[in-house]
Amino acid sequence: MAKQLALPIDDSSNAPTPLDATVLDAEIAALLAIHEPGLKLPPLRVSSRMRRTLGSYSPHRRRIALGAHLLAFGTIDQQRSILLHELAHAMVHHRHPKASAHGREFSEACRQLGIEPFRTVDLPVREWLTNERYGYRCGRCGALSLRKRRVRAVRCECGEKVSPERAGLIALPPGSEPRLLGTVALRR
Ligand SMILES: [Zn+2]
Ligand SMILES: [Zn+2]
Repeated sequence: MAKQLALPIDDSSNAPTPLDATVLDAEIAALLAIHEPGLKLPPLRVSSRMRRTLGSYSPHRRRIALGAHLLAFGTIDQQRSILLHELAHAMVHHRHPKASAHGREFSEACRQLGIEPFRTVDLPVREWLTNERYGYRCGRCGALSLRKRRVRAVRCECGEKVSPERAGLIALPPGSEPRLLGTVALRR
């Protein structure tokens, strides 16, 4: 069922808050300074396109990516556990480029970072995804219409037809403020 929230555009406090990974970037820098001073990593990539994946490390780009939904819905402990897992991959790749993904060298890096060398993690991703909406901002009255499915156009409560080029992807964490995960293109 479609759900519509009327949020006035001139009240910016009602706009979904963008995600911010600076705290996690600072944590990575602090851990690398201790455990792998020769390794510098670029800022985290936060991706709203990573749907089932919580985190990844790209050896090619030397970059850690985290799913936007992890930052919006996950607890700080859940975020840290994924972040440190990917950081362990980055450290292993730096030390032993040929080492297997979750082998002995990985276990050693995890031990240094104080985490379990898990391979999989059980987080309620499916539940998180049910709390995502596509957001359409009305150009006339400023209201934000939320839809469960991506559609090309919506009819605002004010009567205006809203058909933007991109919709916002918005997280509605239970009991917390809406977060802007990113934007998605709408086929015209
Ligand atoms: Zn892994
Ligand atoms: Zn409107």
